[in-house]
Amino acid sequence: MVHLQWGLYALIPSLVISILAFLFFFIKRHRGHGYFLSKFSAFTRIRFNHLEQRRQTYCPANKNCQCHPVDSSSHIQPNLSCTHRSPTLYMSFAGAAMIVGGVRTTEWCGSISQLHDQTDNSFDVLFLTDPAQCFYLQDPDYKWQGLIYYRNLVKTYSTLYQRVILIGASLGGSMVCMCADLATISIAFNPVLDPTLLGLPWRIMGAFCPARQAQVIREQVQTNMEKIKSEKVNHNCVLHIHWSQLSAPDQRQAHRVVGGGKQKKSRQKECLTLVSDFDINNPCLSSPVGVYVWFHRCSRHALAMHLKRSRQLIPLLRHHLGVKSESIPQNTSQEKEEQQQQKQSTVIDMPTLAEVNDTNEHEVRVPLI
Ligand SMILES: [Zn+2]
Repeated sequence: MVHLQWGLYALIPSLVISILAFLFFFIKRHRGHGYFLSKFSAFTRIRFNHLEQRRQTYCPANKNCQCHPVDSSSHIQPNLSCTHRSPTLYMSFAGAAMIVGGVRTTEWCGSISQLHDQTDNSFDVLFLTDPAQCFYLQDPDYKWQGLIYYRNLVKTYSTLYQRVILIGASLGGSMVCMCADLATISIAFNPVLDPTLLGLPWRIMGAFCPARQAQVIREQVQTNMEKIKSEKVNHNCVLHIHWSQLSAPDQRQAHRVVGGGKQKKSRQKECLTLVSDFDINNPCLSSPVGVYVWFHRCSRHALAMHLKRSRQLIPLLRHHLGVKSESIPQNTSQEKEEQQQQKQSTVIDMPTLAEVNDTNEHEVRVPLI
């Protein structure tokens, strides 16, 4: 009996030590991605230099350009005397990336390069991340001035480039919508336009946003959409929003804008040029002005990843950006079938979304394409 007691006394500390050692190595292994640090930073509002260094990464096409800090930095101010700029600047706002495990420094890098693979177009890219994972609302000094910080950045770059293209998904898409009136083309996949509509697991695992700051997002997006729709901007300006029609979190966000849902919201007509099921042949995909909402028959919030795997992402982006490719790959039979399905789809209306909402949850999650 005495032996058993001593055995227990020895077991408890060794268990505690093993758990601590496991946590230590687990966090150390993922530290490079900044996942745990960014979540900790989001809740505590503590600023970490390790994360801040990854806020901006500027990649000019002209390799002779030495006018900006090399690699990543918390502040990369546009160097006004730089003469190496390309006509186009992409600004990529990385999402929460909670599935792939952390803060990614160069989200959209592969897709942007692939877009221009067979063209002579040169382009610069500014990759942005949100170290605090708070919908880009925390500035580098952590004073909730992120909206002013990023809008100033987009505004400055828009005077230096012929066209500025904003692209982002999820919380990255939120800031794309918040700056869309300042850019030439803005593309947002599954943007979160009202973080208060996110479920608790999302708030804990995904992105944290206090209610007061959520209001900042709602108001700025509505103002921008109204401005773009009524052409109150003095340059070509278009915002394309893509949502997964069968994803419950996306439906909640979409209902706020296109109407419908459990609360029978009304459609914000003064904000929208077109709400439609996605069809690659729709000429509005290449429109230079307006606010377009596209619904995809997809059940996942990670729509861009789904489109990439089904080889629809690059053709879609080519239409938005007016990029012509000399050799477009031959369509596979699966792609032809998907396109046929898309041709048969109809313009989405409020009842369509409501029907989707009312169906069995299990059915809703089954992808139809
Ligand atoms: Zn330069």
